[in-house]
Amino acid sequence: MAKIEGSCLCGQVQYASMAEPLVVALCNCTHCQKQSGGAFSVNVGIPKGSLKFETGQTQVFADRGSSGQAVYRHFCPNCGSPIFSDVVSRPGLIWLKAGTLKDTSWVKPTMSLWCESAQSWVHQPDIQQFRQGPASV
Ligand SMILES: [Zn+2]
Ligand SMILES: [Zn+2]
Repeated sequence: MAKIEGSCLCGQVQYASMAEPLVVALCNCTHCQKQSGGAFSVNVGIPKGSLKFETGQTQVFADRGSSGQAVYRHFCPNCGSPIFSDVVSRPGLIWLKAGTLKDTSWVKPTMSLWCESAQSWVHQPDIQQFRQGPASV
């Protein structure tokens, strides 16, 4: 059974990947706050190309990361749920939004990015912390 399976809020977009997740990172950047409507995003890095859509298709917002390169933010065109980001400055990976996973029991972030723009009430977990990137996700 695929570890990585999920959908958007309305269920129109359903995806799966047979790959093992490579990294789980929190991102406190202002763009992730805007896009998620929350304090940070939870991103699961998986090999680009391993993600298959079972139903539906995402729409893309071409954002720009701090590197100046594009961050393609894919979302459900019907309900607006963010599904994944494709960060051009970090090739080979895409970043799934962990809140869209069917099973989140295995999700354990190991790094927190963009802590300098974290909301003041957020207590960072005891994991590697970066004031800024490696790259905006
Ligand atoms: Zn949807
Ligand atoms: Zn971010």
